[in-house]
Amino acid sequence: MGNVTLNRVTKQFGAASVIKGVDLTIEAGEFCVFVGPSGCGKSTLLRMIAGLEDISSGALKIGGNDMTRVGPAERGVAMVFQSYALYPHMTVAENIGFGLRMTGHSKDEVARRTKAAAEMLQLQSMLGRKPSQLSGGQRQRVAIGRAIVRNPQVFLFDEPLSNLDASLRVQMRTEISKLHQDIRTTMIYVTHDQVEAMTMADKIVVLQGGLVEQVGSPLELYHRPKNIFVAGFIGSPK
Ligand code: ADP
Ligand code: MG
Repeated sequence: MGNVTLNRVTKQFGAASVIKGVDLTIEAGEFCVFVGPSGCGKSTLLRMIAGLEDISSGALKIGGNDMTRVGPAERGVAMVFQSYALYPHMTVAENIGFGLRMTGHSKDEVARRTKAAAEMLQLQSMLGRKPSQLSGGQRQRVAIGRAIVRNPQVFLFDEPLSNLDASLRVQMRTEISKLHQDIRTTMIYVTHDQVEAMTMADKIVVLQGGLVEQVGSPLELYHRPKNIFVAGFIGSPK
């Protein structure tokens, strides 16, 4: 199953120590949110789980298998990027199926899985459109569809809603939570938005300066923040 464990994971960029020894377990099926101020290492940690950055030291397991030195395509993870990462010259269907086509799946298989993903995201009627003919929320759904077709054991999201307007952000938040309820796949979601963290997470990981400050459910962090930093960041009265 898609549990994720990090054991003393560090990241150095040259002389800079950016992740300073992170121990963390994310259970299979959990919706886990990484929060923390800009520059604390959220994206770097996520990119190491995705295999887009090397791990300087420590170990990573996904689904019980050691993935520390395994390439991104072999990890069974899919990353959802911001919606502007769609290919503008491709249709919605081509965008969703692109990753599968690249990995040699048959035309029929790509079509079948693209259709299933589109149904899950209510994009059936838009498969022939180009990204420029979609709303911001629809584009974000296509970005999620590109991950879903690959049937990953872990979904990774890096601030996927940050370039949407406020009302759309609220709507997409609800849709992503609903998707998680439907498919129950492990999701790791990075945000600097406390409200997103509090409303979406089963588990919140609060990061600061490349270290984990505290891990807990939204209620635990709200009612029992470990220190002033967590209290301030989560917004609890302390
Ligand atoms: P966050 O996503 O929490 O805002 P990042 O993980 O992007 O933080 O960055 C953490 C720190 O690592 C920052 O100080 C950033 O400048 C640094 N950093 C990130 N990527 C690189 C890189 N490729 N080379 C050097 N420093 C980097
Ligand atoms: Mg970031």
